Amino acid sequence: MWKIGMSEEIGKALQAVVDRVKQAAARRPQMLQNVTPRLVAVSKTKLPEMVVEAYQQGQRNFGENYVNELVDKSSNPQVLSLCPEIKWHFIGHLQKKNINKLLGVPNLFMVETIDSVKLADKVNGSWQRLRAANSQRLKIMVQINTSGEESKHGLAPEETVNTVKYIISRCPALHFVGLMTIGRHGYDLTEGPNPDFQMLLKRRRELCESLQLPLEDVELSMGMSTDFEHAIEVGSTNVRVGSTIFGERDYPNTPSPEKKSVVMTEEAAGKLERLAVTEQ
Ligand SMILES: *Cc1c(COP(=O)(O)O)cnc(C)c1O
Repeated sequence: MWKIGMSEEIGKALQAVVDRVKQAAARRPQMLQNVTPRLVAVSKTKLPEMVVEAYQQGQRNFGENYVNELVDKSSNPQVLSLCPEIKWHFIGHLQKKNINKLLGVPNLFMVETIDSVKLADKVNGSWQRLRAANSQRLKIMVQINTSGEESKHGLAPEETVNTVKYIISRCPALHFVGLMTIGRHGYDLTEGPNPDFQMLLKRRRELCESLQLPLEDVELSMGMSTDFEHAIEVGSTNVRVGSTIFGERDYPNTPSPEKKSVVMTEEAAGKLERLAVTEQ
């Protein structure tokens, strides 16, 4: 529910995350210093008013992972009138039947979750048809399933080079800007650098070598609420942070109505979260 006082909370939480992004960026090795990481505020399940509030605090990039929710939020009259420079990132699993709906989103900035040549082809074709008058290419990232979990969407890591090669050479309406991963949930950083992030770095090196691309032309979207600082320290250029900015999410469609009064354990909340992230 939207409450008085909530706006102040979002402002503070957002500012704290922005500061932490800057501090993490300053801790990066010298060779990574020149790019400022982009903060994508993930507003899924949250009200349009909360998006407007964060926008008014200076936030411009927002992420959503359900097409219908993104369509509704991006065309909300308040969002449209008060957030003219908003940049929407689609970060969820994209089904073919939803492509046209997604591409109609006002201020769609980037689709981070292209995970097959087929999907790239379809998005390319739709963008050419729908935005024929607009010569701007659509920014896309290729999502890699770095953890190899069956429940995760994303391309098998070894297909990265061929898929990107295909997109660059055969999808003229798409602008390939980088690689994205979600990675396994709840990785314990005391055990060392997150192997999923290392895998994404490795695939980028390989990609840049085989296609002769400069490293700085291939962004990395990795890092969420629990690990965005670590992700930045190892080279993420795009972090997707939701609950640390907007508060924990509750999912209204959880099975029993009694659930509402039950305080979930961290672990249970994590599981639920994973379902929401991976299933669609
Ligand atoms: C929900 C979501 C996030 C943000 O998760 P938090 O843990 O709330 O920061 C990031 N990326 C994707 C793909 C998501 O679905």
